[in-house]
Amino acid sequence: MSRISYVNGAYVRHMDAVVHIDDRGYQFADAVYEGVTVRHGRMVDLEPHLDRLWRSMGELRIAAPMQRGPMRFVFREVIRRNRIENGFLYIQVSRGVARRDHAFPTTPVHSSLVVTLKRLDVDGVIRRAEKGVKAHTEPDIRWGRCDVKSTSLLPNILAKQAAKEKGGFEAVLVDTQGYVTEGSSTNMWIVRKDGVVQTRSTADNILPGITRATLLKIAAELQIKVVEEAFSLDAAKDAAEMFLSSSTGCATPIVELDGHMIGDGTPGPVAKRLVEAYRRYMDA
Ligand code: PMP
Repeated sequence: MSRISYVNGAYVRHMDAVVHIDDRGYQFADAVYEGVTVRHGRMVDLEPHLDRLWRSMGELRIAAPMQRGPMRFVFREVIRRNRIENGFLYIQVSRGVARRDHAFPTTPVHSSLVVTLKRLDVDGVIRRAEKGVKAHTEPDIRWGRCDVKSTSLLPNILAKQAAKEKGGFEAVLVDTQGYVTEGSSTNMWIVRKDGVVQTRSTADNILPGITRATLLKIAAELQIKVVEEAFSLDAAKDAAEMFLSSSTGCATPIVELDGHMIGDGTPGPVAKRLVEAYRRYMDA
């Protein structure tokens, strides 16, 4: 069975799914996106993902391609038609197709909606979270609106590639003051030696991660103390634990950063509790 994707009103074979070369998403990365984990056929945290998509579109003045109800239907239909139980649902909305000009089109254009689904080994994600990963730092050279989930990801992919070439799973982005901002596609957390969990505030030019928000709720339920405050690279290296969060990354411990062992170099007790609680949350 071939993969099915949704493109602007049609469900098509993935290999035939195309957008126009004048699409502003293609030309300018004038587009926003979401990535939703599908677990046992169910979309994890769908409503917060839709809230964030609407916020991103609003911030960039991209018109919604359709209302939320029909969009939920399209997502469910893509999942149904692909018969995928565990996957990664990708949603992209671009400003639409218009004659190339940096400024917004002066006549109204339809925004473009693309929805794809690929298999994701969610159990593999959890197994990786039980082992931990290595990461490498990269300078954060992104723009001042990282709160918008835009497809302008060139700095992110360059950082991820650099980390990968050094043998790391993720790039930890560090600003000019020596503070960790986030990962190339993840939010960053530490567990300080006093047991307090620390993660940068979303008011501080980072993506408001959906997994981050869910983990904050889970931590509160587990009575784990969390402060939302920036931490430095030095603080990360000195931390008892470090972990990343994302829809496809759960609460994965970082056990080695730039070749430096974090804690004892194995997943710590706080991250372990969060991974287990997040797995239960996904399966609920
Ligand atoms: N930060 C960045 C830069 C990201 O791209 C992502 C993943 N899209 C995240 C954080 C994590 O967000 P979420 O938990 O919503 O997947």
